[in-house]
Amino acid sequence: MLPKDLLREQLCGFKPYVAGRPIEEVRREYGLEGRIAKLASNENPLGTSPKAMEAMCEAVKGVYLYPDDNAYYFRNKVAARYGVEWEQVYAAAGSVEVIELCGQAFLNPGDVVLTSERTFAMYQLAAMKAGARCVQIPMIDGGYRYDMAGITAALNEKTKIVFLANPTNPTGTWFTSEEFDAFMEKVPESTLVVYDCAYDEFVTTDDMPDPWKYLKAGRRILILKTFSKAYGLAGVRGGYAVGPKDIVAGLMLVRIPFNMNVVSMAACMAALDDEEFVQKSYEFTKQELAFLIESLKDLPVVIPPTQTNFILIDTQKDSKWLFEELQKKGIIVRPMGGNGLPNAIRVNVGLHEDNVHFVEVFRRLILS
Ligand SMILES: *Cc1c(COP(=O)(O)O)cnc(C)c1O
Repeated sequence: MLPKDLLREQLCGFKPYVAGRPIEEVRREYGLEGRIAKLASNENPLGTSPKAMEAMCEAVKGVYLYPDDNAYYFRNKVAARYGVEWEQVYAAAGSVEVIELCGQAFLNPGDVVLTSERTFAMYQLAAMKAGARCVQIPMIDGGYRYDMAGITAALNEKTKIVFLANPTNPTGTWFTSEEFDAFMEKVPESTLVVYDCAYDEFVTTDDMPDPWKYLKAGRRILILKTFSKAYGLAGVRGGYAVGPKDIVAGLMLVRIPFNMNVVSMAACMAALDDEEFVQKSYEFTKQELAFLIESLKDLPVVIPPTQTNFILIDTQKDSKWLFEELQKKGIIVRPMGGNGLPNAIRVNVGLHEDNVHFVEVFRRLILS
């Protein structure tokens, strides 16, 4: 029930973001005991960077004070990493905050946002909340990959923002440097390109675009990074965006003060220095992805190539049914009906024992 008489017009008929289900919620609902494998939200099964853990324990002592609202040290640390100025860095409570704020800062009702279909749901939601129109270009290559030529062809002077996730979620696929370069050549000067690199740390191919070169060339591009995936910090909410100073200033205009809290800031700064943990997560992910793909290859399912820490499995069964049946066995995955893939589930790499358990149960369901 919603207070329809009070609600902003744009929100009538609006459906909020659906998150992966928390372990304890599933345990309660299904009366499960023992281990539950959460393979639903692309978190890091190896846990949190130990350096971040240590920094958080120390930072907790300071939580009676407000955070530095300018996030000066955090922004400087990120700036030094990429050779940009600190005013080009937005300190975020997760990258979804930035996506949301792009809508609030830059979109008028009726404006056009451009993205792909079957991509990260927050892009469309941010556009809708702002009353903008979201144009979603159908995917190619079996319906799993961004059609960059199609997105390029849809560009015009009215395109306010283009949201691109590379590699993308939930299909795990990516677009190449050549495709991105051809796109950037056609982007109007007034358009903001939001380039979301949530899975950067897991990429194994050499053929990924370099968004930074466009930022350094003065283009209107905002690059999004998160601590929720490879760094194992999904629970503290940390991320950042790097872009031109005026775009960052626009985001600062609409953010909530103290958006990045004391614990998150300390954790994220320490995590940035923990290359060992990121490397370990990369190696582990590569190995377990190979295990998952190999273990499922004889089944009548489609698994598009991935550059992330998850796979999309497109089946001939209803994904809601698969989701329920897996949950009964203590495995949480993500059904992808909401993303226009009614028979697909998304499964992230878990600890090896969880991956083995998933393969066993999933194989039985598919072959039943
Ligand atoms: C997981 C994910 C994010 C991360 O969101 P946070 O708010 O930083 O946790 C952003 N973009 C995409 C495409 C993702 O899959």
